[in-house]
Amino acid sequence: MSKKAVLVVISGPAGTGKGTVVKELVRRGAAEISISATTRVPRGQEQNGVEYHFLTKEKFERMIGEDGFLEYAEYCGNYYGSPKAPVDKWLSEGKNVILEIEVEGYQKVKAKRPDCIGIFIMPPSMEELENRLRGRNTETEEQIQKRLSRAAEEIPLAELYNYVVVNDSVQDCADKIEYIFKSETDN
Ligand code: ADP
Ligand code: 5GP
Repeated sequence: MSKKAVLVVISGPAGTGKGTVVKELVRRGAAEISISATTRVPRGQEQNGVEYHFLTKEKFERMIGEDGFLEYAEYCGNYYGSPKAPVDKWLSEGKNVILEIEVEGYQKVKAKRPDCIGIFIMPPSMEELENRLRGRNTETEEQIQKRLSRAAEEIPLAELYNYVVVNDSVQDCADKIEYIFKSETDN
């Protein structure tokens, strides 16, 4: 049964291009993006309230206690979580909402909101994934290694998602995801 708006969870290994594709979808007006909270430090030009809400561990844990997250998880030594209030507000307004989160977070959202749509973005190859991760130039060698080993764990879990889309070109990948939105809603 089609709906007015969908909650879409996008996952995929670090460096696969999730952020780039999601930015393109938002530019096209296809969906709102949930801004996550994290305890990791800002990277490159990242700004508080734009890419993430950058919180201290204490503030993050207070928000957990106040039941402020739809889900949260630990990833590579930091907390990441999706604030609940904006997601519910956008869905009630009939807007598609994207959560760009890792696999553990997806499983928690799927358990709470079984009608959410999971999309796993796959890199064209592991070699290209490493090239993109390195080319981004935002992580230390240690962080790159952690993310690559995490990628190897995450890729087999793509089967838990409703759709798997390869990010070969940003435009083609965004086109395919927009098509999924259209087929899942009556907009
Ligand atoms: P993620 O959010 O999955 O960690 P990013 O969106 O930060 O990944 O992309 C990682 C790097 O790969 C960035 O430098 C980005 O410009 C580049 N990139 C993203 N999509 C593509 C693509 N389709 N082809 C080539 N490079 C890409
Ligand atoms: P990064 O540090 O590269 O921005 O993000 C690391 C990982 O955390 C990515 O896989 C990203 O999708 C995930 N992530 C970002 N926000 C959230 C969130 O709110 N919840 C969960 N569970 N994962 C998140």
